[in-house]
Amino acid sequence: MDYKKSYHLSQYGIFISLLILIVASQTSQNSTLKGILVAIGIISVILNVLQEIAFCRCPYCLERLSSRTKLPTYCPKCGKKLE
Ligand SMILES: [Zn+2]
Repeated sequence: MDYKKSYHLSQYGIFISLLILIVASQTSQNSTLKGILVAIGIISVILNVLQEIAFCRCPYCLERLSSRTKLPTYCPKCGKKLE
């Protein structure tokens, strides 16, 4: 997996995780379903953070790139152009 895929996955992943947690918070009747949804939401947040830490890096110097902001054109550490 390259940093771009990781970056985009991270953006969608957080969105989907939050969506699952919002749906879970609206589910009050069935507590088992709610528990499952909350668990899935939390697990997907954790997986998302882990994959981002592992893969969302500069391909040259392995500096971490933030997925909270726009992807930089140049690496903030080594200054190489990111494709
Ligand atoms: Zn770099």
